[in-house]
Amino acid sequence: MYIRNNIKELLPYSTARDDYKGGDISVWLDANESPYNNGVNRYPDPHQKALKGEIAQLKGVTPEQVFVGNGSDEAIDLCFRIFCEPGVDNVVAIAPTYGMYAVAAAINNVAVREVPLEAETYALNVPAMLAAADANTRLMWVCSPNNPTGNAFSLQQLEALADNFGGVLVVDEAYIDFSSQPSMLTVLSKHPNVVVLQTLSKAWGMAGLRLGLAFASPMIADIFARVKYPYNVNAPTQAEVAKRLHAEPHDAHVSEVCSQRQWLATELAKMSCVLKVYHSDANFLLVKVTDADAIYDHLVANGIIVRNRNRVKGCEGCLRITVGTPAENVNVIDALKRSVGEILG
Ligand SMILES: *Cc1c(COP(=O)(O)O)cnc(C)c1O
Repeated sequence: MYIRNNIKELLPYSTARDDYKGGDISVWLDANESPYNNGVNRYPDPHQKALKGEIAQLKGVTPEQVFVGNGSDEAIDLCFRIFCEPGVDNVVAIAPTYGMYAVAAAINNVAVREVPLEAETYALNVPAMLAAADANTRLMWVCSPNNPTGNAFSLQQLEALADNFGGVLVVDEAYIDFSSQPSMLTVLSKHPNVVVLQTLSKAWGMAGLRLGLAFASPMIADIFARVKYPYNVNAPTQAEVAKRLHAEPHDAHVSEVCSQRQWLATELAKMSCVLKVYHSDANFLLVKVTDADAIYDHLVANGIIVRNRNRVKGCEGCLRITVGTPAENVNVIDALKRSVGEILG
């Protein structure tokens, strides 16, 4: 596994609180903070110790395997900054997939080699992924369950990539809580070259707090910790997340979304404007329709916004519909029923 030399040699920024080695301190004059207590006048813990402990316990890993960041986007960007030499190295990614990998690659001046998923089934082609890599391929990006196709890949396929690729395999599991496939976390300790991304933005209902998770070997997690901004997760987020990890009706919401996904898929499949509902292991459905642009506009006119994926290569004619509350899902179906007359004439 290749790590950039400047990163290997990096001397991380040492915060005021890194110098403090414990003791019964009641007067904090080391960080040039305001002394007036308003709830947020102190810097947050740069190492997010309490939060990482909670997350490690929840996920069945050690705190040394955990990175927390300002959304998954931070972890995605860090992967490029740590492992890829700008203008020299490249990465391999499935296509279609989440747009942020290509954006982070472009910002870091790293080329992306796209390997299309199989037409119509969106199956992962492991030999094609491995064949796309050369000596300068540092990362392989696989989103599972994949956005926007919705399907998850088997652990066997993902482990075959990890075992046969010399760089780092990044598995983005933003939607894993909705999936019937097991998480890559269950085999993480067997694979020192795997980074698993998860997030609190989807199943956990905390998109507004901005907390992304990465899990990896202690060695990789330590490099992430040294390269990140010192105070990358703010104090209210650290406190609020720790509280909500226990207070939220997480399991009930996830199981309702999964049963609503089934209901929505069944209702959609009955409609004449729907050509195909793809299998989903996520909290959204990719749906091929007769006229994606017209149906998108019709839904907007009815106060409903979905994602138009008509211009994404491999998703032509498709809308991506997030599973909402039962009432919202009924709204979508009712609006589509009204559209049949208008759009199909
Ligand atoms: C929504 C999503 C994320 C989450 O991003 P955050 O920055 O954590 O909100 C990550 N990956 C994929 C594929 C997503 O769809």
